[in-house]
Amino acid sequence: MSEVVKLESHDIVGIVTVDSPPVNALSAAVRGGILECVKAAVADPAIKAIVLTCAGRTFIAGADITEFGKPPKPPALNDVLSEIENSPKPVIAAIHGTALGGGLEVALACHYRVATKDAKLGLPEVKLGLLPGAGGTQRLPRAVGPELAVKMIVGGDPIGAAEAHKAGLIEEIVEGPASGGEAFARKVVAEGRPLRKLRDDDSKLAAAKADRSIFTSAVAALTKKSRGLEAPLAAADAVGYAIDLPFDEGLKKEREDFLRLLTSDQSKAQRYAFFAEREASKIAGVPEGTKSRPVQRVAIIGAGTMGGGIAMSFANAGVPVTLIETGEEQLKRGLGIMQKNWEATAARGGIPADAPAKRMALINGVVGLENVRDADLVIEAVFETMAVKKEVFGKLDQFAKPGAVLASNTSYLNIDEIAKQTSRPQDVLGMHFFSPANVMKLCEIVRAEKTAPDALVTAVSIARKIAKVPAVVGVCDGFVGNRMLAQRGKQAEKLLFEGALPQQVDAVVTKFGMPMGPFAMGDLAGLDIGWRSRKDRGIKSEIADALCEAGRFGQKTGKGYYKYEAGSRAPLPDPDVEKLIDETLARLGLKKRVVSDEEILERMMYPMINEGAKILAEGIAARPSDIDVVWLYGYGWPIYRGGPMYWADTVGLKHIADRLAVYAKETSDPSLEPAPLLKKLADEGRTFASLAAGSKAA
Ligand code: NAD
Repeated sequence: MSEVVKLESHDIVGIVTVDSPPVNALSAAVRGGILECVKAAVADPAIKAIVLTCAGRTFIAGADITEFGKPPKPPALNDVLSEIENSPKPVIAAIHGTALGGGLEVALACHYRVATKDAKLGLPEVKLGLLPGAGGTQRLPRAVGPELAVKMIVGGDPIGAAEAHKAGLIEEIVEGPASGGEAFARKVVAEGRPLRKLRDDDSKLAAAKADRSIFTSAVAALTKKSRGLEAPLAAADAVGYAIDLPFDEGLKKEREDFLRLLTSDQSKAQRYAFFAEREASKIAGVPEGTKSRPVQRVAIIGAGTMGGGIAMSFANAGVPVTLIETGEEQLKRGLGIMQKNWEATAARGGIPADAPAKRMALINGVVGLENVRDADLVIEAVFETMAVKKEVFGKLDQFAKPGAVLASNTSYLNIDEIAKQTSRPQDVLGMHFFSPANVMKLCEIVRAEKTAPDALVTAVSIARKIAKVPAVVGVCDGFVGNRMLAQRGKQAEKLLFEGALPQQVDAVVTKFGMPMGPFAMGDLAGLDIGWRSRKDRGIKSEIADALCEAGRFGQKTGKGYYKYEAGSRAPLPDPDVEKLIDETLARLGLKKRVVSDEEILERMMYPMINEGAKILAEGIAARPSDIDVVWLYGYGWPIYRGGPMYWADTVGLKHIADRLAVYAKETSDPSLEPAPLLKKLADEGRTFASLAAGSKAA
């Protein structure tokens, strides 16, 4: 008998239990075990019905993705599923936890399904650049109709037991999976219910067969935002096969499409990103077993753009927040924005109608830093000035309880210097959220010189608790993300002096898959911020300065590198900007040349990768994949390109180093010279991925 799947008989009911921790993934052993046990149950004359259930915390949570890309091991999942479906005795899937991907496909091949009330059911393959490859796209539409099937397969989001019950995906909500499944099995036998094979039941497809728009409009709603991704479109086609083709033909075509996606560059990149995110929560150099400090309440200093968004993220996760401001006026404004934000989401149906009030109730808005006293974690989000930060941390040292973790949301400032304002630098670190903080998933956790391991673990685990993706980084100007972005910004600006226009540069960057180009991003953030800071530092940037002198601060003034129609955020190319650039160039005696899109792409991306190499060499990021996580979750890097360091490996480091050297010469810019680590890897024919995790990579 199998090690991981066992058959027990309770007189007329055979209970097949998968027990393969941690999540009962469908490894070859699990597939083989299920096949063997179902066959044995079918062969046992005493058994009249079979329950398929799982031990541990969940039903089969999906495929074993470590098997992807390796030679397939028998038995194939489809063979196991046809054994179940063709069983002459009813097979009942009894679900708890999450039945995802291959797990739900197993359940769909059973004749009946029951689930506990907190169970979740879904086909998230699309998120790994795949589609369900074992009948999911053919059986789910037959179970719940094409509309919900499209939502689950093309969107990839799971549904809860209540919705699954309503949609007919499960028959009953039960208390315990094994006992509930067994009771249901007895009922099926007693009532002599027929074997319900989804493959033979087209009743829920009839409406879409008659009127295809039911299907096409559901697809259109979900794919309009899938910028450049192949899998959602392929998944939609596969649901279409269920409507248009006989079951076996649909199954065959689904399999072909699945195999095509499995070897696609996009899916490889998406699977890499999945592992990169998991890897990022392992902190290099922290002793194993280091425990998080308990966090019951969080204090956030500053209710501005970032403080408000961070407070929302905590309240969304049910964590009580003390929100601290300098005055009632600022507090009222901050709380008002948060409330409006939640109400707008509730109005769109994104959260329940009573959620805004419940979440607001978790936030205690107060004036005065002495109110941090009962917080276990304090996050400072005040103005980006060292003097202000120092003053705040001095006071935090005075008022915060011993052992509280003290975090700064600074974008650039030196956390070591901030930590020196306290008598407890071991408790100080950075938690750098991204704007809008209630939406963006990245949190750079900045480890300062003296940060204690358990303070770091606390920050990482609380970030995960509030559904952020943490990436641990070291202290430097701009940390990982903004430091690399600065290199791109510098080249973007230089390109304008050589003959490119903002809209040309932005178009190349968005075509690559980024949500926005550098100039549209500048307009969104406000050009006046950089202008003031340049003035303070006595630095010039002629085109950007000229724009600001003309009152063009970006979206907030309706004009920047682009113009904006009233109430619109859509950037429109502006002939006035072209004129202003031409005049500036003429004044400086610079000649324009035709800049190719290829050059733009290389000068946008390669200097960032070069900076990434320096970041690795300095140990600011422990692994190339951590840098990729920063870009995927903080800057909207297209997931199907894996992240800048992953993408660099696919381009080839030698090519990148060579091109950088050429640009360094052509544009007389020594900052473009290939970094020593990049050069070394390029010379040795290696990739970033070949660097050992945690090494300083010098
Ligand atoms: P903001 O000006 O919108 O908000 C700052 C708030 O802090 C104001 O409401 C102000 O009244 C309050 N404040 C100032 N001193 C205070 C004190 N002593 N006690 C309590 N409250 C105080 O600024 P923001 O954009 O939210 O930025 C805050 C921090 O976050 C900065 O360090 C910034 O660099 C960083 N950050 C900003 C962004 C962004 O895109 N805006 C992104 C990441 C990080």
